[in-house]
Amino acid sequence: MVNIGENLQKKAFRRCGGLKILDLEKLSILIAEDSIFFRQLLVQTLSSWGYAVVTAGSGSEAWEILQREDTPRLAILDWVMPGLSGLEVCRMVSGRTGTPYIYLILLTSKDNKEDIVAGLEAGADDYITKPFHEEELRCRVKIGERIIRLENKISWLAATDPLTGVLNRRAFMERMEGEMQRSKRQNEPYSVIMVDIDHFKKINDTYGHQAGDTVLHRFAKHLSSLLRSYEFVGRYGGEEFIISLTGTGENQAVRIAERLRASLVDLAITVSDNQEALPVTASFGVAGTAVIAEGTGDMLLTKADQALYRAKREGRNRVCS
Ligand code: GH3
Ligand code: MG
Ligand code: MG
Ligand code: MG
Repeated sequence: MVNIGENLQKKAFRRCGGLKILDLEKLSILIAEDSIFFRQLLVQTLSSWGYAVVTAGSGSEAWEILQREDTPRLAILDWVMPGLSGLEVCRMVSGRTGTPYIYLILLTSKDNKEDIVAGLEAGADDYITKPFHEEELRCRVKIGERIIRLENKISWLAATDPLTGVLNRRAFMERMEGEMQRSKRQNEPYSVIMVDIDHFKKINDTYGHQAGDTVLHRFAKHLSSLLRSYEFVGRYGGEEFIISLTGTGENQAVRIAERLRASLVDLAITVSDNQEALPVTASFGVAGTAVIAEGTGDMLLTKADQALYRAKREGRNRVCS
């Protein structure tokens, strides 16, 4: 099997649909604290440990930051703040679904057991009392960091196809549903392209299964590299891929498919050292809607599949819609 390194996977993943996969090289932490003294102390302390720090002076400001696409994934929240309290922010963050997991630490001078229980029940992952012990804070932030990294890895593994690094079918379908909903709200067109490598079995039979794997990996990477950041590829099945095109009507999608098809001529895949590049072609089935209210995801996929079938029947290496 082709072993693609973690960095490569990360890059591929970022490409596949702008999924909220983080660069966790430098974890960023939100500090929500209304006391200027504590806020500055925390900024200084956390920065000295190498974290990037974002600050909020109220619960409402914290909540606004935590809803952003590039939200910090760890937050240290004071309890008593103007606007929303830290407790309310914990409730709101932990009550969301379909958003990235955020590790929440309540840092407060409320130190009786009832408060601690209330804080944890509101959704905080950890609870530290003020004045904080520096080393304790450092250790607890480390625990949060470990959990965020694990969570990130699990989400990544659950969503990607290990061989090609693009979205797996389930993750693709989830993302696609989201994109369709969005297009519908904005009254924009939406299209998908189904792509199937031609005579792929012959590659396996002639050069071996490993060579086939290399072709799949290179092929998927190639498709991803030609798409815009909000377009994404999934592996639909064995040697079949699917592309999501937000804001793109069928005619435009046909032009994109045609461009992808033509680009395969330059895709020089070699599967062993002293061997010529394998010619790889593929067939494309396109389906789209002018106004998305017209159809469901399943209908669109069925139409794309039928178009692909026609492209195969009419001789392969072509685009049908
Ligand atoms: P067509 O042009 O009609 O699409 O022909 P084809 O040979 O590409 O299609 P077919 O469905 O006959 O064969 C697909 C092959 O893909 C069969 C299967 O063994 C192979 N395959 C599926 N998944 C993988 C994989 O992960 N790695 C490798 N190497 N081969 C795979
Ligand atoms: Mg306060
Ligand atoms: Mg095929
Ligand atoms: Mg096939």
